Amino acid sequence: MLTDKIAVVTGGTRGIGRAICETFHKNGARVAFLYAGNTELAAEQEARLPGSRGYRCDVADAAAVKAVFAEIARDFGPVGILVNNAGLTRDHLALGMREEDFTRVLDVNLTGAFHTIREAYPVFLKRRSGRIINISSVSGLVGNPGQVNYSASKAGLIGLTKSVARELASRGVTCNAIAPGFVETDMTKDLGDSAPLLSSIPMKRFAKPEEIAAAALFLASDAAGYITGEVLRVDGGLAM
Ligand code: NAP
Repeated sequence: MLTDKIAVVTGGTRGIGRAICETFHKNGARVAFLYAGNTELAAEQEARLPGSRGYRCDVADAAAVKAVFAEIARDFGPVGILVNNAGLTRDHLALGMREEDFTRVLDVNLTGAFHTIREAYPVFLKRRSGRIINISSVSGLVGNPGQVNYSASKAGLIGLTKSVARELASRGVTCNAIAPGFVETDMTKDLGDSAPLLSSIPMKRFAKPEEIAAAALFLASDAAGYITGEVLRVDGGLAM
């Protein structure tokens, strides 16, 4: 389905990003993934997914992103699919949230996506094709107490998605967002599966990372060629 397409996935070592790397690889893509610091996990993944390669890079650092995209171009060739998945939370009620926790979450979750898109943009323009998939969140659609930073970053990502989609639509490039609800990953492991939390989800369960990856695979595929600027909720009905 993605035979020989070159895919760059940020935050590719754990959770949703890891599932996206595995799904894309299984479908024939050549996968370059970015991660923050866990080199052991990255090495394991390179071994698990032959031909893939991990690059340690903080997406919030514009110069580092530029350098890593140049490296990926040398190692793989021109990027065809970009998945902005790297993200983090630093939750606190707005009243007591520290300035650095607000800005760090914006810098990684939102500005990080801008940095990678800026690097892939000229490649997509030149090739007159490309796929951008940004992993937002239902928090960006409906808000969440304790997550003013995270919700703002994820809502911002939706605005960014739609603007990029409009800029590149006539050049054969699509840009879409996925808004997951709760997904079984390290990010949510401390939330537990308390009854009130589960009862808020119409499907009464968290998503598996593979269920988000399936949506990413669809948006990356030829079948989704006429879909751009869309926000696809994969949330068991949480935010409908
Ligand atoms: P996760 O399990 O915590 O994994 C995060 C991944 O991002 C790791 O690979 C991590 O690398 C990488 N990362 C973190 N900061 C980075 C940085 N500054 N630069 C580059 N890579 C960085 O997260 P997840 O739950 O899979 O979430 C993935 C995405 O889905 C995030 O954008 C998140 O906001 C979104 N999302 C998650 C949920 C959920 O319920 N889990 C729901 C909605 C949306 P290391 O391993 O090296 O640290």
